[in-house]
Amino acid sequence: MKRQGGKRLPLKRSKMTGRRADFAMREQAEKSIQLKNYSRISLLNYIRRNKHTTKARLASVTGLTFMAIKKIMEELLKLNLVREDSYENGGVGRRAVTYTVNENYGYTLGLHINVFRTSAAVMNLHGEILSIQSFETRRDGASSSAELIDQMVALVESAIAESGVPREKLLGLGVGAPGPVNSCEGVVLSPPNFPLLRYLPLRQILEERLSLPVSVQKDTNAIAMGEYWRGAGAGSEDMVYIDADMGIGSSLILNGATYEGANYIAGEFGHITLDPNGPLCNCGAHGCVEAVSSGLAILREMENQLSSHAEHPLYEKRSCLTIEDLMEAACKSDPLTISILNRAACYMGAAVSNLINILDPQIIILGGILTMEYPQYFRIVRDTTLNKRVQGTRENVLVRSALGSRAGVIGAGEIVANHFYTTLVSEVLSKS
Ligand SMILES: [Zn+2]
Repeated sequence: MKRQGGKRLPLKRSKMTGRRADFAMREQAEKSIQLKNYSRISLLNYIRRNKHTTKARLASVTGLTFMAIKKIMEELLKLNLVREDSYENGGVGRRAVTYTVNENYGYTLGLHINVFRTSAAVMNLHGEILSIQSFETRRDGASSSAELIDQMVALVESAIAESGVPREKLLGLGVGAPGPVNSCEGVVLSPPNFPLLRYLPLRQILEERLSLPVSVQKDTNAIAMGEYWRGAGAGSEDMVYIDADMGIGSSLILNGATYEGANYIAGEFGHITLDPNGPLCNCGAHGCVEAVSSGLAILREMENQLSSHAEHPLYEKRSCLTIEDLMEAACKSDPLTISILNRAACYMGAAVSNLINILDPQIIILGGILTMEYPQYFRIVRDTTLNKRVQGTRENVLVRSALGSRAGVIGAGEIVANHFYTTLVSEVLSKS
C-alpha cells in the first residue's frame, strides 16, 4: 500500500477514481503554488510601494509569521528581485536590514506624446531616468502619421542607445497618448487636438517597429501613474489627477490601478456641466468644465474679448493666439489676460469641490500647462475648493503636480513596471 502526502490511498481504485485522484492532487499542487506566488507577489508589491522595508514590518502588515517572511525574502533575494538596501534602527541598539526592489532587474521605456513636446525615456525599476530624449511636437511637426511614427521610433531608439541598457533587459514600452484611447486594443481613437494620431493602431505599429511589448494608455492615465508612483501621490492609496491643459483630462487611481469604469469612460471630469447656458463644448454640450476652464476655452474667450479691445498689444494676433502668448501676457501683468485666466480657475475650483464632495479622495493632484505655467491658477483653484468643501475634508487634499512635464514619460514607464510586478513576475517566480 502506497502512502502519498501522508494520506492513505484506497486499496482498490477503479481507473476513473485513480484519474480523479490524480487530478485532485494536481489541482491541490497548483493551488499551493498559486498561493505561494500570491504571497510572494504581494510582498514584492508592498516593498515596491513602500520603497524600503524590514522583515519585521512585512510580518506585521501581512500577518505571515516572521519565519515565512524570512523564507520568502530569501527566495526573492536569490531571484534578484529584491536587494538589501540599508539599516534601520530597531530600538535598543538593534539595527534591522531594509529591503528594496532590485531596480536593475530590468528597465522600462516610456513614451509621452503631447501636443507641445514628445518625450521618450529609459528608466530603472525605481522610476529613475537613465536617459531622456524629446522633440517639440509642433515645431518639428510631422506632415503625416507615417512621419510622426518615424520620429517616435527614432526618439525611442535614441533614448535606448543613450542609456547603454542592453535590449534584452528592456521589459517593454509604455505609451501615454492623447485620449481617447482604446487601451485593450492599443488604438488611439480621435484626439481633437492631434489629428495625425486618429485611429492609429499604435501598439501594433510600435511593437513591429521596435520588437518590444508595447502598452498604450490615455496620456492622463500615464501622468497619473507617474505622480502615484514617483510624484505627489507617492504614499497614498487612492488619488485623482486633473490635467488642466489645452483640454481638461482626469484619471482616478484606486489601490494602485487606474479605475476605468464600466464602459472605460471613467474620468471624463472635463465634461461635467458647470453652466447649462455656457459656451459650447467639443463634446456637443454647453458649459462643461473644458468649455470654461481649459486652455482652449481661455484662448477662445481672449479672442472674443480682443475684438472690442483694439488698443490691446495682442489685438492684431487675435485670430492666431497661442497659449504661450497668453502666459507671456500674464507674466507682464496684462489685466485682460489675468481676468480671463482667473475666471477659468474659479470654474475649475467649483468643479474640483464637486469632485471632493462625491469621491472624498485622499489626494487630488492638479497638473497641466495652466497649473505649471500660471501659479495663480493653482492658488485660485485651491482657495475656491477650500471655501466650498464639505466639513471634514483635509486642507491639503489638493496639491500641485510634483513631476511637472516629466510625469507622463515616467508614468508611461511605470505602466510597464506595473505589468511586470503583477503579471510577468509569475514566470520569474516559477523558476524557483
Ligand atoms: Zn463637454
